Amino acid sequence: MTLDVAWAIAWVRDTAETVAEHRDALVELDRQIGDGDHGENLTRGFTAVIQRLDALEEPPAEVGDVLKLVATTLMSTVGGAAGPLYGTAYLRAAKATGVPELDSAGVVALLEGALEGIVVRGKSTTGEMTMVDAWSPAVEAAVAAADAGQDPAGVLAAAADAAERGAEATIPMVATKGRASYLGERSAGHRDPGAESSALVLRAAARAAG
Ligand code: ADP
Ligand code: MG
Ligand code: MG
Repeated sequence: MTLDVAWAIAWVRDTAETVAEHRDALVELDRQIGDGDHGENLTRGFTAVIQRLDALEEPPAEVGDVLKLVATTLMSTVGGAAGPLYGTAYLRAAKATGVPELDSAGVVALLEGALEGIVVRGKSTTGEMTMVDAWSPAVEAAVAAADAGQDPAGVLAAAADAAERGAEATIPMVATKGRASYLGERSAGHRDPGAESSALVLRAAARAAG
């Protein structure tokens, strides 16, 4: 099986619904270690994505076109850290998917592109209590699943599982990037909101493939 543009659109729609459902929970996480706007930022961004998607006269032709629309919309509608970070992630993911339909290797390339975008834009690495701590294990798990012969849905399910574990693993971390780093040691004991939203985004991708 391969994943086509219909999957990409289903992923984006599921993400928009999921982010809206978890808006208050993400706000609460960000309230504890940041400025309490992460759920609001992402809900605004993905609402705008759906509006632009629905307003298109011609549906997007390829997976990459959908991801590019998400990227440019998030960059122009979401402020703060998450807008440019997610925007760059989707842009790099779009560039990494140069083919109309994704096999398992194509899914891995998409996820690697997204992680690279966040790392480049955020100058961040693992262990800093950011979204990288969800995306990095997700990519590792995706590579392993693809190597083991899993189909694209299996690769995404493995990535989502790893991202959820990664978000959980941010709880004892001390933040060294983003607003939470202003708290120093006091950031420990809280789940990073960006890692949590990243796990939601990846679970939506897996659901759309299932
Ligand atoms: P802001 O902090 O500007 O209010 P958000 O609340 O929307 O932005 O997003 C905060 C999230 O962004 C954090 O939880 C963290 O996961 C992520 N983040 C912040 N800075 C970085 C960075 N340099 N690299 C990777 N992720 C980051
Ligand atoms: Mg915030
Ligand atoms: Mg903010």
